Amino acid sequence: MEVVDNPGGFAKALAARRAAGRGVGLVPTMGALHAGHRSLVARAAARDGFAAVTIFVNPLQFGERADLDAYPKDLDADLEVAASAGAGLVFCPDAEQMLPGGGLLTSVRVAGLSEPWEGASRPGHFAGVATIVTKLLCLAGPCRAYFGEKDYQQLLVVRRLAADLCLPVEVVGCPTVREPDGLALSSRNVRLTSEQRARATVLHRALCQGAKAAAAGERRPEAVRRVMADVLASEPAVSVDYVAAVDPDTLTVPETLAGAVRLLVAARIGDVRLIDNLGAAVGTAQSDPSDGLPVPALRGA
Ligand code: AMP
Repeated sequence: MEVVDNPGGFAKALAARRAAGRGVGLVPTMGALHAGHRSLVARAAARDGFAAVTIFVNPLQFGERADLDAYPKDLDADLEVAASAGAGLVFCPDAEQMLPGGGLLTSVRVAGLSEPWEGASRPGHFAGVATIVTKLLCLAGPCRAYFGEKDYQQLLVVRRLAADLCLPVEVVGCPTVREPDGLALSSRNVRLTSEQRARATVLHRALCQGAKAAAAGERRPEAVRRVMADVLASEPAVSVDYVAAVDPDTLTVPETLAGAVRLLVAARIGDVRLIDNLGAAVGTAQSDPSDGLPVPALRGA
């Protein structure tokens, strides 16, 4: 596995691969790699024959300095996980290489999609994500780029910026990998105490109850929201930021739910903020066929 820390070397390595008639699958991450990331790398390697992982803890997408400082960083461990998941290249630039002189004067903002939910709770977050993802995609050149549904709003934002800016990339959404008890894998989970970790399963339980209500034919978004809020309220240690049933394409709350629905939740447990989401279908018992169950072959990161 090749390891590159400068943007020019990264662009050159991927261009050389394409020049040899080979494909490129790109997996942008912030490191602290776990089985969720591994599943993206494995998909990229299987479909494109080559997975390039980027590891960059993007300061532009953190509002609070403390959150950035607390973000887990262990490059040696990440390189091991990337190699064992089948990555062919890791691009791990430092902040100066991605943000020379301390910052960029250019920013990418995806209006509308970036504004509600995570956007409202974390002002500037999606502009930070969109700017750095655009930079990575420009460096990478033509490729498939794999993003997790775990960050569902981010996936929509990236899809939209790639389409709006005619970037030569196919954005591929990948199912959320979960622990056996339903907790979505997240780099932030390591900051939970074992008691908080047990309580955190309430997010997935709430989403499942919301999906069940929708499947049973509940069409009122507020009623589905209340079902989820009631489950969340059963864990007083969990402080809800938002919980909603939304249109899966626009992320707006429709007057009436019909067809596909996306259920969203964000909550704090202690000082750890967790997000999760689930697809559901009104009047259809099958909830989110694409949602990842634990992937045994990929676990252990
Ligand atoms: P991050 O390093 O948290 O920025 O995540 C990098 C990529 O991995 C993003 O596309 C995430 O959506 C994806 N990801 C994070 N957690 C999971 C998970 N549990 N299952 C699948 N993909 C994930």
